[in-house]
Amino acid sequence: MWLKKFLNKIIDFVYPRKCYLCNKIIIKPDEFLCDYCSKNLKINTKIRVLNHQNNIICISPFEYFGNIRNSIRRFKFHNYKYYSEFFAKIIASELQKINIKNFDYICYVPLTKSRQNIRGFNQAELLAKDISKILHIPCLNALRKIKNTKTQHELKLSERTVNVLGAFDINSDVNIQNKNILLCDDITTSGNTLLECVKILLNHNANSVTCCTIARSRN
Ligand SMILES: [Zn+2]
Repeated sequence: MWLKKFLNKIIDFVYPRKCYLCNKIIIKPDEFLCDYCSKNLKINTKIRVLNHQNNIICISPFEYFGNIRNSIRRFKFHNYKYYSEFFAKIIASELQKINIKNFDYICYVPLTKSRQNIRGFNQAELLAKDISKILHIPCLNALRKIKNTKTQHELKLSERTVNVLGAFDINSDVNIQNKNILLCDDITTSGNTLLECVKILLNHNANSVTCCTIARSRN
């Protein structure tokens, strides 16, 4: 045991752990955040209605700007896969606070195979798997992306619905009949991507779909 602690100390010395938000070196290596970010962390969970007709809501603890934006970008584009645990913990805790229960499965917004091969991972899948561990709800690989799309926030609002139309399909052998599903993604902008996935899940007879993301973006 002492050897493990000793080796961990050497690793912390050579590769000091950095704050997940401001990226400065952390003195307490067991924490996610530095003292400053920990004290100033503003979790401002918003429940946004994405579709009134089917009562589809999305729960997001953060707004996509400042250090949260930088952190999500490191997570997605710079291979900081381990950030998933931190974000999942916050999303799971917020879901517990608003007391939405009885999810049968956690699913995630997929990437195309080519995009996933380039990035090496799907950040939404990592989040879903970590939330799954915390909330003890099985993670289901229900969806696949069958069409390459442009990045949503680079498009005009009017172009976003068309961009993701027909982009997703259900995986074969997946049975979600009468199941209540938590659908996970990293950020939401217009909500069109989530709604396109929701449409597929409801068309395959899911009972309900609730969405969650780390952050919501205003544009
Ligand atoms: Zn910090």
